[in-house]
Order: sequence, then structure tokens, then C-alpha cells
Amino acid sequence: MAVTTNTVQTLKNFVNGQWIDSQATDFLEVPDPATGIVLASVPISTKGEVAEAVKAAKAAFKTWRKVPVPKRARILFKYQQLLTKNHESLAQLVVKENGKSYKEAYGEVLRGIECVEFACGAPSLMMGDSLSSIAEDIDSEMFRYPLGVVGGITPFNFPMMVPCWMFPLAIVCGNTFVLKPSERTPILANRLAELLHESGLPQGVFNIVHGAHDVVNGLIDHNDVKAISFVGSQPVAKYVYEKAAAQGKRVQALSGAKNHHIVMPDAELDKAVQNVLSSSFGSAGQRCMACSAVILVGRQDSFVEALKEKADHMKMGSGLDDEVLLTPVIRQSHREKVLGLIQKGQEEGAVLVRDGREDMERHPDGTFLGATIFDQVTPEMTIAREELFAPVLSILRANDLDQALDIVNSSRFGNSATLYTQDAKAVRQFREEAEPGMLGVNVGVPAPMAFFPFSGAKDSFYGDLHANGKDGLNFYTRKKMITSRFV
Ligand code: NAD
Repeated sequence: MAVTTNTVQTLKNFVNGQWIDSQATDFLEVPDPATGIVLASVPISTKGEVAEAVKAAKAAFKTWRKVPVPKRARILFKYQQLLTKNHESLAQLVVKENGKSYKEAYGEVLRGIECVEFACGAPSLMMGDSLSSIAEDIDSEMFRYPLGVVGGITPFNFPMMVPCWMFPLAIVCGNTFVLKPSERTPILANRLAELLHESGLPQGVFNIVHGAHDVVNGLIDHNDVKAISFVGSQPVAKYVYEKAAAQGKRVQALSGAKNHHIVMPDAELDKAVQNVLSSSFGSAGQRCMACSAVILVGRQDSFVEALKEKADHMKMGSGLDDEVLLTPVIRQSHREKVLGLIQKGQEEGAVLVRDGREDMERHPDGTFLGATIFDQVTPEMTIAREELFAPVLSILRANDLDQALDIVNSSRFGNSATLYTQDAKAVRQFREEAEPGMLGVNVGVPAPMAFFPFSGAKDSFYGDLHANGKDGLNFYTRKKMITSRFV
């Protein structure tokens, strides 16, 4: 809903170390998804405002790239301290604008801090390679250099962690950065900028331009933006990847998902049920690593019964309530879309074991949807193929691991998959044959930590170098070779 309002805080852009009122004529409300109370108004900034931010970032690059690497890292050490000191208030902000539980938000902030900690290792990470005597009296050395201005575009579901996948490593490598946060969860980004500047970052190195499509296109189309880091839904990831790559930019575009959990007959049932429950319904299913489809190998009706029983007892409500597990989805428009897909699941013949629509009335102010479980789902059904990004779980059946893997690999997505078993042989087959890039064994959310790549595959990732780890370092640096002879 586009509004102009003076009753709530209007977010400013952050350009060249200054908080700037946007010249936007359109603004969006940012409501708390649990209550509907409007927290802020976010400007839908223009392409011209993107150009101003890129200009500042380009100017800052001239000097920032020459700041010694240990000195750049020292600023991030200070940032790590400030983020840690503010851990609780940052988590509360995540709960307010995103709706997830405080426990989830606290964990998310920690994941963000870990990215900063990884970036603090820049003096070691950025080391090059050398070899003397590659030929008679000739030596070769490789040095790493930053690229220039990098653009970052982020989704609503991790307002802290996903930006932290990008800018700490990018700037410690000597790049300068323009962030376009999600217009649905834009508030925390400004707090990240405040703390970054309290850490001593020079002006222009990190900038924020709030908005939507125009800002994204403004970054992609700008000649002085050398690389784009994107995280978001599949159609937009593909669009951003193709458009930016066609203009010769480096792009990493992390995309949507459909994550399968295979439950083998020998799995520890209680643990598998608990893992699936929190993976599928935690953060209202709005995680790119959420389990959205379970494949039961053998009949295992007891799994469905146990899962339904636990889902019936999950408390739904505000993420600030410690006992709450089920929190709201992000917006009414998103809930409407999901309700349509639940309807479609019924029409296509899936059996509704638990209907979360019945829980909605208990919280009329927020955008809640109860835990929804479909059984007898087949791989062709829409709910089995599409990412719903909601607390809706599909249960499929397979005769054996081969058939279960066929279902996993028939998905166009390839973010993650999990296997529940105690059988090492099954684990090996799963590791060798499953196509997704992030696998779990008896782990519900197998998200790699900051020093490993976040390695989605197929339509869950467009590009060559993933976020985080050595991939992230390689993405944000280019290499230069020098071959010398003095004799
Ligand atoms: P989204 O695609 O709607 O938005 C992501 C960003 O793209 C936002 O900043 C938005 O302003 C911008 N955008 C949206 N539509 C655009 C368009 N047509 N043109 C240009 N820019 C546009 O995604 P979302 O709903 O905010 O986030 C949820 C999605 O992100 C899910 O699909 C989820 O799986 C995915 N995600 C993936 C990962 C991963 O690591 N693979 C991590 C987190 C989220």
C-alpha cells in the first residue's frame, strides 16, 4: 500500500556518511506483522538517488582501497564489539519488523556477527600466492585487489544476516558498498549503518538507498557498479543475474528453494519430528532453508501423527512472547497468495491433515497462518513444486531411498536437503547423489557458517561464486599476476 505519512518515522537514506531525506514521492508503510502497527515509512527512492550514492562510493573507493588491510580489519573488530554489545536490541528490531521469534532473531544476529568475525581475518584471507623460479631467474606473484563499488540487494526474511553476508567482507577487501535493503524490512539496515560509522568507517564506504525496483535497476544499470550481490526470490534472482551479467558485471544471485527432508525407516522418529517441526514452521516457514516437503520412505504413518500432535500444541503469536513458536507471515498480500496455493493443493487431491487457516481468526490483527500439513502429496502437484515460503508442509511417500532421491532431484531448485537415518551407507548414497548444494544428516536447517560457502545449486543460485567463505573472498576481489626478472 503506497502512503504518505507524517505520523511515523520516515527512514532516511545514508549517503557519504550523511543521513539524507529521500526525494521520493512514494513511500511504503512498514507494519509489525504481528500487530499491524505501522513502525516506519520507507521511501521508494529514485534512480537519481542511486547515482548520488554510487558517486559517493566511487569517490570513497579512491582512498579506501589504499587503507592498509589490517587497518580496515581493525574497524570491523570494533564493529564486531558494537554489534555484540547491541545484540539484544538488534534482535528486538528484527522481531518487530520481520515478525520472527526473539530466539530466531537472536540467532540471526549471531549469524550476522559471525560474518563480521570472518571478515576480520582479511589480512590472512587476502594473501596472494608466489613462486620463485617459474623459469630461469623469473618469479611470479599473485596479489588480490578490490573491484570498486559493489551493490547489495537483500530480501525481507533475514534483515540482519543477509546484508552481513555481503558488506563486511566486501568492504574489508577494499570495495565500497551501496545496500538496497528489502522495502518490507528496511529499519534494521539503518541501525547497521549507524554502528558501522561508530566503528570509524570513513564516509562513502558504506551507503544505503531505500526503495524497490528502481533502486535495483539503478544499481544494475550504473557503469560504476562493478559487482552485484543479490538474495531473494527465484524470478527476481534470475532477472538480476541476467541483466547484470549482460552488462559485464560480476553477479552472485542467491534464489528461492524447495527443501526436502527424507525420513528413512531407521530414523530416530522423535528427533526427526522435532527437526521437521522447527524447520518447517520456525520463522513461519520463511527461510530459504526451511523444510517444505517431507519424503517418508516406507509408510511411517506414525510420523504424520506425531507431527500433527506437536503442531497442534505450537503456540502462535508475537515473536516477543518466549513461548511462541509460530509467528506471522510478512504481509497480508503474501498470506493471500499462500491461501490460494493451499486451495490449489486441495483441488489437486492432496489430503489436508492440519488446516492452519482455522487458526487465523485467533489473531485478527496480525498476518498469521497456522501450521498447515498436507499428506498424500505427489511430485507433480503445485504445492510440491513451488516455493510457498509459509508454514505449509507437504508429505510425500517413497518406497526406497532411490525413489526419494529421484523426487529431490526432480525439483528445479537445489538449495538444501536433509536425510534422517543412522545408516552410513544411506548417508553416502545421499551425499553422492542428491543434487542440492547444502545437505543435512539428522540436521533440520543445514545452513553453513560464515567461513563456508552458502552453496545453493540449480535454480536456487545464479552465478559462480557463492556468498561467504573463500567463495565470498574470491567474489569481492580480483587477482593480478606479476612476473619479474631482475637478473
Ligand atoms: P524478493 O525477490 O521479493 O525481494 C528481494 C529483493 O529484490 C528486494 O530487495 C526487492 O526490493 C527486490 N525486488 C523484488 N522484486 C523485484 C523486481 N521485480 N525487480 C527488481 N527488484 C525486485 O524476495 P523476498 O520475498 O524479499 O525474500 C524471500 C525470497 O528470498 C525467497 O524466495 C527465499 O527463498 C529467498 N532467499 C534465498 C536465500 C538463499 O540463500 N538462497 C536466502 C534468503 C532468502
